[in-house]
Amino acid sequence: MLLNPLTFHTPSTLDEAVRLYTTLDNSRLQAGGTFLLNSLKLLKRKGAKTPEHVISLNKIDGLKGASASNGELTIKAMTTISDLYSSPHLQGHLSVLRTVCKNISTNPIRNMATVGGNLTCRYTWTEMPAAMIGLGGRLHFRGRDGATQTLDAEEFFKNGAKTDKIFTHVTIASDPNASVAYCRVKKSPNVDIPLLSILIKTNFNRNTFAHTRVSVNNCVAFAQRDHKLEQFLDQSVCSPDIAQEALNHMDESIYETRSNDYKKHMFRVSIKSALRELMEKNR
Ligand SMILES: Cc1cc2nc3c(=O)[nH]c(=O)nc-3n(C[C@H](O)[C@H](O)[C@H](O)COP(=O)(O)OP(=O)(O)OC[C@H]3O[C@@H](n4cnc5c(N)ncnc54)[C@H](O)[C@@H]3O)c2cc1C
Repeated sequence: MLLNPLTFHTPSTLDEAVRLYTTLDNSRLQAGGTFLLNSLKLLKRKGAKTPEHVISLNKIDGLKGASASNGELTIKAMTTISDLYSSPHLQGHLSVLRTVCKNISTNPIRNMATVGGNLTCRYTWTEMPAAMIGLGGRLHFRGRDGATQTLDAEEFFKNGAKTDKIFTHVTIASDPNASVAYCRVKKSPNVDIPLLSILIKTNFNRNTFAHTRVSVNNCVAFAQRDHKLEQFLDQSVCSPDIAQEALNHMDESIYETRSNDYKKHMFRVSIKSALRELMEKNR
């Protein structure tokens, strides 16, 4: 199916993109296009209004790449999932992002899809949201008026990941004492999207959990933290039974929202497995 006619803009600087986004009515941003083009076709099929302008961010070199300095990792919005996977800056606990990238779909999608598109597309079946919430990522935006805005990833997804701004980059503080486990379950053997994704980060204080973050996504209403489970873990000592015991302290209201019994079961299996992996690392 052909898209409805539109004007395709290719700014080469962020300032130019902001100017276009501010002045053009009925415009949409395009990153890798892997989600956007399908969604525009879907709108057309439903007879809904489609944008008259698409502003591609692909020629803005200033929005590409990952770097590390002053104990902080910066990933720019137009960094592809493949480029992030290959980045030498994914060190220590942040190397978990390599596992996240590796799981995302197939090579052709990973070569086109961007970290920015994954975080802002409001599509349920994405994995960067749980990863960024769990790692304490901070999302940075440039508004139509040129002003910058920074939000904790958790806050952004609590508000349904809605934005009328251009997402520019995410920053994550390095945490040399952190241990991380990431778990992703495939939706089905034939469909390369996740049924669920979970990231657990903790700072073991000898034999106890501390500053634990448990973030979950897919089959829930937007990526979020399970604060109830975190509180339980932060009062707990690592013991052979703790991964099983933790399942009695999950915030059921999170998993009730969009999960059927199978999905809830898979969340329990995955949380248990992630906790066991973490404790194994701490031995
Ligand atoms: C077949 C298939 C399988 C997939 N499997 C997985 C999977 O296993 N795991 C997973 O995590 N994801 C998966 N995805 C989702 C894929 O990762 C997303 O399509 C992708 O992340 C979107 O990125 P993009 O760069 O192509 O964004 P685009 O499609 O270009 O844009 C997506 C949306 O984000 C908005 N946007 C993009 N950039 C910005 C910005 N900088 N600021 C503000 N808004 C912006 C656009 O306006 C648009 O609404 C899959 C997708 C497909 C098509």
